[in-house]
Amino acid sequence: MIRLTEVRLPLDHAPEALIAAARARLGLADADALDLRVARRGYDARRRGGIMLVYSLDCAVADEAVILAKAGEDARIGPSPDTSYRPVDVEGPRLARGEAFQRPVVIGAGPCGLMAGLILAQMGLRPLILERGKAVRERTVDTFALWRRSVLTPESNVQFGEGGAGTFSDGKLYSQVSDPRHLGRKVLEEFVRAGAPEEILFVSKPHIGTFRLVSMVEHIRAEIEAAGGEYRFSARVDELMLDEQRSVRGLRLSDGEEVAASHVVLAIGHSARDTFSMLEAAGVEMQSKPFSIGVRIEHPQSLIDADRFGPQAGSPLLGAADYKLAHHASNGRGVYSFCMCPGGTVVAATSEEGRVVTNGMSQYSRAERNANAGIVVDLRPGEDYPDEPLAGVAFQRHWERQAFLAGGGDYRAPAQRVGDFLAGRASTSLGSVTPSYRPGVTPTDLSACLPDFAVEAIREALPAFARKLPGFAMEDAVLTGVETRTSSPLRIPRGQDGRSLNTGGLFPAGEGAGYAGGILSAAIDGIRIAEAVALSMAGREATG
Ligand code: FAD
Repeated sequence: MIRLTEVRLPLDHAPEALIAAARARLGLADADALDLRVARRGYDARRRGGIMLVYSLDCAVADEAVILAKAGEDARIGPSPDTSYRPVDVEGPRLARGEAFQRPVVIGAGPCGLMAGLILAQMGLRPLILERGKAVRERTVDTFALWRRSVLTPESNVQFGEGGAGTFSDGKLYSQVSDPRHLGRKVLEEFVRAGAPEEILFVSKPHIGTFRLVSMVEHIRAEIEAAGGEYRFSARVDELMLDEQRSVRGLRLSDGEEVAASHVVLAIGHSARDTFSMLEAAGVEMQSKPFSIGVRIEHPQSLIDADRFGPQAGSPLLGAADYKLAHHASNGRGVYSFCMCPGGTVVAATSEEGRVVTNGMSQYSRAERNANAGIVVDLRPGEDYPDEPLAGVAFQRHWERQAFLAGGGDYRAPAQRVGDFLAGRASTSLGSVTPSYRPGVTPTDLSACLPDFAVEAIREALPAFARKLPGFAMEDAVLTGVETRTSSPLRIPRGQDGRSLNTGGLFPAGEGAGYAGGILSAAIDGIRIAEAVALSMAGREATG
């Protein structure tokens, strides 16, 4: 197959234009055989009224070698990359029949744990998956109880339960991690088999939305179980049992039960604060890590669509418009948009009582009235809080508590009109943009819920963002706070072999360990760590 890149066509091109463009690029006549598959479809919206679709095409032709030779130096024509997944060969089924076999254990059923579990199951290693939260349908009921009735279930919520933190989300599935083995492709293919729309394999910024994610994680569970794996819900790991050499020999669960284990994937996400404390008490090496703090901003989606797409807004090929913004503030802080959710809602994302945390989600259709995104400011361990592993957690807790109190102490979130925020006065009412956060918001002064340097930096950034997206600093846009769970506040370092630097048999992975930031990168890391575990079980070593 030949891969053509940078095939540019107008947004409203006729279907035949694609094959015509490919023929022209390849120098083929109409009669020459050509089979064509879209490998990627993105768009270039830089020219107002002249949005172009930008394709990568995989072409099956008769004289591949001749065409490639003729293409010479043209970087836009080359052999299609081989994106197929090649698992590490550990003879899993034979390993699993051995007398000394002890099944690998995965802690956490988020994207990282699910993908690690799936790969281990596909290798024949029958993993045991321990998840502190509930199965996804029950979890949905608990999550909605916070949003609709202000009732938080600390073990079953937006952060905890089957599917992990990304289940009630926008389901954006792109990442900027380096991925030379095309592991992201393997993840997307598994997601399609689990029920995601096929288009995620080729659109440049795929997303799935919340509704489909729920049934997808159930489908992945069924596959893991069919391959001999096992799930246990409401199974919180409360203790690592170590031998004299500091290698894991077992896990103690919250009900006191002990589970024997010698290979443990630690895929606990960024919100398992009690588990972080447990790991620190067990002497597992951890380090503080930068993360960010800020607020969610909401605008009418129609404003963002008009800014980005102009007269071509509304095209089904473009969908609801997104944005990505960054500003370097004069106080030295970076301010950037985070986890932008077109046509979505702001959600209550706390996992702890007496705290308020914001995040965003959407459905596949992205048809809600408002666009939302985190507007967050970077933090520095050692400057903003002590350079110690758990100090970032204490910092998060402090500001989440301030937000809870400012919201009224009943899980409503503090909110402020952008006009009031910029003028430095409290909001007493909201305007034309209705905040989507449930169970509701309290108009107030958000500066009580953020460090001063963050307020200052965001005040400077909003007008700067408005120079790129007119209307961004509109008076009635709504800010809701606080956004604290942008990434893990700590790192649990691992070596080239995937193991914790000082605890044998423990394989830290995913967002909680600082190795991912988002659904796709967490799932990719799940594959990597499953391979490291399998190699270790087979007495071999991963090399990075
Ligand atoms: P998690 O998904 O956090 O999973 C960790 C799991 O471990 C949890 O299920 C937890 O219950 C379990 N666990 C923790 N401690 C224990 C223990 N002691 N014992 C047993 N189980 C335990 N990312 C994107 O890429 N796109 C998006 O659109 C997007 N939207 C988001 C929207 C929201 C509302 C939120 C909260 C996050 C969103 N994210 C998004 C971020 C994304 O969800 C995370 O990056 C991703 O889920 C991290 O995966 P993970 O598997 O490493 O951890």
